[in-house]
Amino acid sequence: MSRCSIIAKDIRILKQLDLDECSDVCPVEALIVTSDGVRAEPSRCLVCLACMALCGPDKVMIISDWVCTES
Ligand code: SF4
Repeated sequence: MSRCSIIAKDIRILKQLDLDECSDVCPVEALIVTSDGVRAEPSRCLVCLACMALCGPDKVMIISDWVCTES
């Protein structure tokens, strides 16, 4: 039997993110937006897609994939 989970391969910033809309959007600090810029850490991302919904899919894109393991 295989067990699969979705992972973030990349977090792509396509346009400048709005500090008011995006600074607190990520629940796990995989996307940190400050006045100094944006830091993205795909390894922390849960692929909840809240950032795409709230910041705008034209501004941030989560590149995801499935990883399956046999058990
Ligand atoms: S998809 Fe969710 S967990 Fe991943 S960066 Fe966006 S808000 Fe954070």
